[in-house]
Amino acid sequence: MSLDFGTRLIHHRHSVDPQTGASSTPMYLASTYHQEDVDQPGAYDYSRSGNPTRHALEETIAELEGGVAGFAFSSGMAAISTTFLLFSAGDHLIISEDVYGGTFRVLTEVLSRLGITCTFVDTTDLAKVKEALRPETKGVYIETPSNPLLKVSDLQPICEWARQNGIISMVDNTFLTPYYQKPLVLGADIVIHSATKFISGHSDVVAGLVAVGDPALAKRVGYLQNAFGSILGVQDCWLVLRGLKTLKIRMEASTRGAEKIARWLESQPAVKQVNYTGLPSHPGHSIQAAQATGHGAVLTFEVEDGSVARKLMKNVKIPIVAVSLGSVESILSYPCKMSHASMPEEERNRRGITDGLLRLSVGLEDPDDLIADLEQALA
Ligand SMILES: *Cc1c(COP(=O)(O)O)cnc(C)c1O
Repeated sequence: MSLDFGTRLIHHRHSVDPQTGASSTPMYLASTYHQEDVDQPGAYDYSRSGNPTRHALEETIAELEGGVAGFAFSSGMAAISTTFLLFSAGDHLIISEDVYGGTFRVLTEVLSRLGITCTFVDTTDLAKVKEALRPETKGVYIETPSNPLLKVSDLQPICEWARQNGIISMVDNTFLTPYYQKPLVLGADIVIHSATKFISGHSDVVAGLVAVGDPALAKRVGYLQNAFGSILGVQDCWLVLRGLKTLKIRMEASTRGAEKIARWLESQPAVKQVNYTGLPSHPGHSIQAAQATGHGAVLTFEVEDGSVARKLMKNVKIPIVAVSLGSVESILSYPCKMSHASMPEEERNRRGITDGLLRLSVGLEDPDDLIADLEQALA
């Protein structure tokens, strides 16, 4: 019987505890495990290397992404950084130019010191990706849709090209989650999440997840997870498992809200530009519609200037004004002072990340309430 994604979120091999029948995965708060026979240790010996609660989450994300193995990390950045440890001094990586700020930082400030170099390219253009290839290129890392302009990269041809050239392809799937987009199915080798966002969904946990499509590569990532040690704690694994159960219904409701709000914003004279892949006016609309089953909850829009943006942030009553995204409450962010604060102003403006640009991650409030709130705040 093939079950719908929403059913599989609730009913999977870890949804009932086999020992007790408990309806939620027990929290195994043990760091170590008694060994009946030191010559034949059991499945678990030490919780950095393996923990039953974490294992339940890891198998769940692997299953939902269509991978062979999953790994849970102490943050999205821990997941990303550990994955980058697949590479060695002398290796070169091709990276989406609009990559998450923390990813940019670890690449340019930390991995660069270790002799791993990278080129940032506009991965919405396959020709530019191919141009960046060098003999020492070992990985390509894509974020789609990107932050904050929601540029869409076509995953299938990039991943296929990567495979032909013996390059590991990695996709940050935080914005869409496996409910809307499955990079492994589109040919990627590794998919990465900040589970802090939609996967857990309640702004109450910081977590990262990785799913891998191939057993040999999965073994290497598992080795690094244990070696580097940035694992997710047991209580946080439980919170992520709890959040995952409602992923489908949250994504659908937030996406419906985002679509309605994006259309409304587009009709407002005070709004210069709306970026949302669900709008036919968005340049990535058709690729997104072909490779994903939904457009997600995040949109950005541009008002006249920084002073209008500040007034709007002061006057809104429903969304919280904060960094992060993907929660039950709507989150209004200000990219030029938050995610892209470290980017020089000239570079920001060149990329369209102006002082008037705002990002809205639509939560589960009634969209009409959010529209009324934005309307009074804009007025
Ligand atoms: C938040 C975020 C990250 C980093 O995740 P943390 O859980 O904050 O470490 C990485 N990629 C994207 C797209 C994000 O939004």
